[in-house]
Amino acid sequence: MRLLLALSASLVLSMTANAESPYDFATTPGKLPKQVLPSEYAVRIVPNIDKLTFSGSEKVKLNVREPVRELVLNALELEIATAAVDDKPLAKTAIKIDKKTELLTLTLPEELPAGDHILSLTFTGKINQQGQGLFYCKYQEQGTNAKKLMLGTQFEATDARRFFPCWDEPSFRAKFQLTVVVPETWTAVSNMPVESELKTDADKEIRFAATPTMSSYLNVLCAGELDIIENTVAGVQMRVVTTKGKGEFGRYALESAGKILEYYNEYFGVPYPLPKLDQIAIPGGFGGAMENWGGITYYESVLLFDPERSSENTKQDIFAVLAHEIAHMWFGDLVTMAWWDNLWLNEGFASWMGSKCTAHFNPDWEVWLRKNTPRNPARRVGSGKEQAMESDARSTTHPVQVPVATEAEANSIFDDISYKKGESVIRMLESFLGEGVFRDGIRKYVDAHKYSNSTTADLWNALGEASGKPVGEIAAGWTEQPGFPIVKVRRDADGSVAISQERFTVNYRNPRPLEWKIPLTYFVAGQPPQSKLMSDKIDKLENIPADKALKINVDGAGNYRTQYDPASWDLLLASLADLNGQDRTNLLGDIWALVQANRVPFSVYLALVEKLPKRDELAERDQIINVFDLVNRLLVDVPERKNFRELARSILRPSFEQLGWEVEKDEPVKRLNLRASLIEALGSLEDPEMISDCRDRYQVFLKDPGSLPPSLRRSVLGVVGGHADEATWTKLHDMGLKATSAEEKEDLYDALARATDPKLIRKTLQIALTDELPTSRATYLVGKVARWSDHPDLVWLFAKTNMKTLLGKTDALAVNSYAASLFTFFSDTARVEELKAYAKNLPPSSAMEVAKAVDEVEFRAAFKNRLIPQILTWTEHRKPVSE
Ligand SMILES: [Zn+2]
Repeated sequence: MRLLLALSASLVLSMTANAESPYDFATTPGKLPKQVLPSEYAVRIVPNIDKLTFSGSEKVKLNVREPVRELVLNALELEIATAAVDDKPLAKTAIKIDKKTELLTLTLPEELPAGDHILSLTFTGKINQQGQGLFYCKYQEQGTNAKKLMLGTQFEATDARRFFPCWDEPSFRAKFQLTVVVPETWTAVSNMPVESELKTDADKEIRFAATPTMSSYLNVLCAGELDIIENTVAGVQMRVVTTKGKGEFGRYALESAGKILEYYNEYFGVPYPLPKLDQIAIPGGFGGAMENWGGITYYESVLLFDPERSSENTKQDIFAVLAHEIAHMWFGDLVTMAWWDNLWLNEGFASWMGSKCTAHFNPDWEVWLRKNTPRNPARRVGSGKEQAMESDARSTTHPVQVPVATEAEANSIFDDISYKKGESVIRMLESFLGEGVFRDGIRKYVDAHKYSNSTTADLWNALGEASGKPVGEIAAGWTEQPGFPIVKVRRDADGSVAISQERFTVNYRNPRPLEWKIPLTYFVAGQPPQSKLMSDKIDKLENIPADKALKINVDGAGNYRTQYDPASWDLLLASLADLNGQDRTNLLGDIWALVQANRVPFSVYLALVEKLPKRDELAERDQIINVFDLVNRLLVDVPERKNFRELARSILRPSFEQLGWEVEKDEPVKRLNLRASLIEALGSLEDPEMISDCRDRYQVFLKDPGSLPPSLRRSVLGVVGGHADEATWTKLHDMGLKATSAEEKEDLYDALARATDPKLIRKTLQIALTDELPTSRATYLVGKVARWSDHPDLVWLFAKTNMKTLLGKTDALAVNSYAASLFTFFSDTARVEELKAYAKNLPPSSAMEVAKAVDEVEFRAAFKNRLIPQILTWTEHRKPVSE
């Protein structure tokens, strides 16, 4: 709780004091003194694979701006053997590492005068199991099944200091030249191309070219027995790097990366500045993807695509992740946020740019439309905006821009708010300013800050210049204060439409009232959209015919909710067929949020669902499926679950009937996706026909794996796993053990994670302690069992007993949230006390995550109690209700 309180206190200060200033190195936050600047590093690393250690040496060119008596830089879990300045060795006693502050202090024998100097260090460090600093990852080789090991690095936010001593804050940009010694059969890749290769005994020494000036966290090194496929796009060498035997699975990523690069070259107006760009697939170690400049790393299931066996969702994930990461090559790498309090600039922007690019090349994926569906942790395309709004409505939210003092705090802001609210606010601004004007502003911004750093103020200034509008003033409410508004619509007797705004919250007693400048968009059914900047609490819309439906928030592109008065709502319900899918999905999302906030009963949502004109619209059904899934899981252990499941099946079954089982040749992607979602949903809702159909298809699949199309495999296996007996569990597990593709493995282990029989749940959990799965996947498996098995109690018991082993497999980002996240599946307030008691064992940096989990459990408990009678009323008097 300490962190949480500290955050809200400083928030009040930062809002009442002053808006943020443009980038200035001297006033940028951070721990490192600013008198000494590194300009060039030459780092040589020699890994020892047998001992899982490495030795290193480095020479750093320093620009000393004022005379100093000591040099202060970052180092963590490194032993410094020797240090010298300008070739004069320092005494051992002059070298001190403070573990707590992660600082290395070198006390100089005499004052070091201003000017250029050289610091030389030799050191040793360790190769980690989890994705922090230099890490190893064990895997089975494709084709041979031989056990192999590869090395990778993960430095963001603050782990470059585990690899070599450095000025590890984003504004200390420098050129980095890396040299590495690896076994002769290995290939090594880094940010820049290989400059020279030198054979030594059984090894080889690879020297990479120096990078342009950049932040330390963007360095990368990957090495192992690797395959490479490549081509050239716009003069840039584009490669996909995989473990041996998997190169061809990189073909889709290679082709997509080329298209994406050309799109961004044009959009940003500055061509990609490095000679090469690698997409590197790592079969473990860390979870997602990392935008190291020129050498982006990916967990392999979000990069590799097997045209024979990969699903459509995998393909969409790959494109979306590529587009996000490659956007960072400009927004993040070429121009870097000055300090971690502006992380959202990197992540919100890359998320928005990635979505825009993904939508541009794949119009049939309905990228923006699916942003309006709620949380679906299995998908990267879609669900962004709703997910951010759900978090942002709670008491535990924080502003997009948040003060960050420590390394641990930097790691705790990689959350929905930074990524998804950031994206949503940028999209809202783009649609308000216009696409062309917005792009001109971005070009100005990139050009002005390239090879340098920036703050949010710099971005608003550039957009303000391009548009002539007070962008900073409009944006401030969205990035500097927490939460977002709800716009209430009321039709008055005189025919005018009154609108008012207030803060929208869920499960939040006494929220601070706030106001926003809302770039409001709206239309009258059958008429073109209009916009208006709503700057006050109360306002009016003119010329709205009394008998026509009025829809606020065109395409759901705005980051706010809307609540209509009964007259306006009835008109909208009667005009659903005239609205597009984005607007209908937006209505579903808003009404569901109002149900959660206790502003309207569940029946209003259900009545809207029943009035939808079509049953096979992907985004609308996805929204409904997600809502039903949440309610179904909330009702575990209560008899009303049966009534609810019947009700939910009666709504979803007809949608599935309409699609049928047969996958047609060249069937549109959205139908493939919808079919897969419906199979999974009906299975979870205990639809007897669906369960038996899946079992039949599974039996055929065992004899003929080609019989199950890739788009159905995950769902069918999931339903079978969810209803597995011991023999089925064992068979799925055997197949999982043998699978070499990360995607196939994940489908099979996810099926195991769905088992609901306590004996099987315990067996699945044990897998997390073995090395069957890459470390990140082993820890995720535990969370998935908590989500799917109906037994978060068994999961917590297991996790508590084995927390040390589990945390040993977790990366820097997840350490803060891991234990707390396992509580978020409980809806029993007794668990709140248990979590609070357990939290005493957790580091202070977990406080925010603990607070979020407490809030979630309390919300679920209250929500469940409210929903039960509402569901009973609905199922007893089921008839179309007009609100
Ligand atoms: Zn990112």
